[in-house]
Amino acid sequence: MKQTLATIDDVLHAFKTPPGNEGRKLILQAYEFANAAHNGQVRASGMPYIHHCLSTARILAKIGMDARTVAAGLMHDVPEDTPETLATIAKKFGPDIAQMIEGITKLGKIKLRGTKEEYKLENWRRMFLAMGSDIRTVIIKLADRLHNMQTLEHLPQEKQQRIANETMEIYVPIANRLGIGEIRSELTDLCFLYLHPDAYHSTKNISETQIKEKEIYVKKAIEEIKKELKSEGIIFVDVHGRAKGIHSLHQKLLKHDMDINRVYDLVAVRVIVNDIAACYETLGIVHKKFHPMIGRIKDYISLPKPNGYQSIHTTVFGPDGRVLEIQIRTQKMHDEAEFGIAAHWLYESRKHKSWKDYFLPKKNEVSKKEVEWVMQLQEWQKELGNNPEEFIEGLKVDFLKNHIFAFTPMGDIIELPEGASIVDFAYAIHTDIGNSATGARLNGKMVSLDSTVHNGQIIEIITDKNRKSPNADWLTFVKTSMAKGAIRRSIKRARKAQEE
Ligand code: MN
Repeated sequence: MKQTLATIDDVLHAFKTPPGNEGRKLILQAYEFANAAHNGQVRASGMPYIHHCLSTARILAKIGMDARTVAAGLMHDVPEDTPETLATIAKKFGPDIAQMIEGITKLGKIKLRGTKEEYKLENWRRMFLAMGSDIRTVIIKLADRLHNMQTLEHLPQEKQQRIANETMEIYVPIANRLGIGEIRSELTDLCFLYLHPDAYHSTKNISETQIKEKEIYVKKAIEEIKKELKSEGIIFVDVHGRAKGIHSLHQKLLKHDMDINRVYDLVAVRVIVNDIAACYETLGIVHKKFHPMIGRIKDYISLPKPNGYQSIHTTVFGPDGRVLEIQIRTQKMHDEAEFGIAAHWLYESRKHKSWKDYFLPKKNEVSKKEVEWVMQLQEWQKELGNNPEEFIEGLKVDFLKNHIFAFTPMGDIIELPEGASIVDFAYAIHTDIGNSATGARLNGKMVSLDSTVHNGQIIEIITDKNRKSPNADWLTFVKTSMAKGAIRRSIKRARKAQEE
């Protein structure tokens, strides 16, 4: 791995705020404090320890986090690894930054006790607790882990395997759920390198050869698309080429019998425009210029991918009749795809105390979904507090499985984990609808309550007003903690009512 010494200027450059900004002053102060505290320490790579702190902070600045989070990133290892204490940080930098660092320190202190499974469970539990109290802690932890993965070659092989495994099982799904594509894909490729080095290197070879071969062609396509958009009066923010990650290319190759000619999106052209209307106009212009391949237009703007991803993808016969994938999206969709939940810090005021103060007043914004699941998380934590295993199992299904979107007949979008049933759908609309559900109509046909919901379906729940409590058998097939909790509560209440 290439290792260049990160400097505070790199961090400030990534932070992208003009000189004189308060945030920059805070970052500089945090740097001076961390630098003095870690003075003389070196990492396994032989690099000064502060290099790790600066690299973590640079990742945070790059994905658009606020000054306090970047400052906390600079000082994240101070209480754990230096003589300076958390109390000093609180005094110098205030309770908000100190609390974030405390959260990271707590996450780090997992002792290897018991079986591997117990260890994993404990790891999960702490991650979720941290997420519930301050999501920024988990984002710092992701940045910290990314830099540790980037410098993994300096550790003994046995440790490399353990850390890469843990990253794949815990950090990659969390980055995915938080929508931080930038961190997720780099972490995934690094895990792939350490866990399956042979497959990694052979895929990388294929990728490099192909990209080199396509370079001139993609440039030509970009120029032609730009020219066409200009002549049609479409204002674009950017048109650029992007190469697929190594791990995701490998997955695609496996799906297509290792035939690289059947992978159309190894290199794609991405068009970034100002608004949704311009996305569809661009699609029309592209199709007028280049003949589209039938069945390859994917409109993830009107039907987002399970992780919330939005874009229009189309595969066309580009210049010289060669197959080319084109992706069209707005700048906001682009930032959300790369930075996920962190993009909200980018788009909103940078002055907030905690994620709650920051999110809660704006209930109807895009961030609503993320806020809701963090809040649900805390609720269920209380509810299932005395059964940690069930708590974690439920969370894995609710938060980390890929999600699907189904619709009510009124067009409301209901988000569910993959494999969810009609009953889960009903409870996601409203507890009363769940309790009184007797069946459902799907494309005009009746389906049973235990049927699986699929992405994009329009489902009408049929209810019976006289029915007030659910069937206990539903517990055998429902997937979400929300439905499970509601069914149990309703049954309990119905029994109580009968006894009285
Ligand atoms: Mn660290």
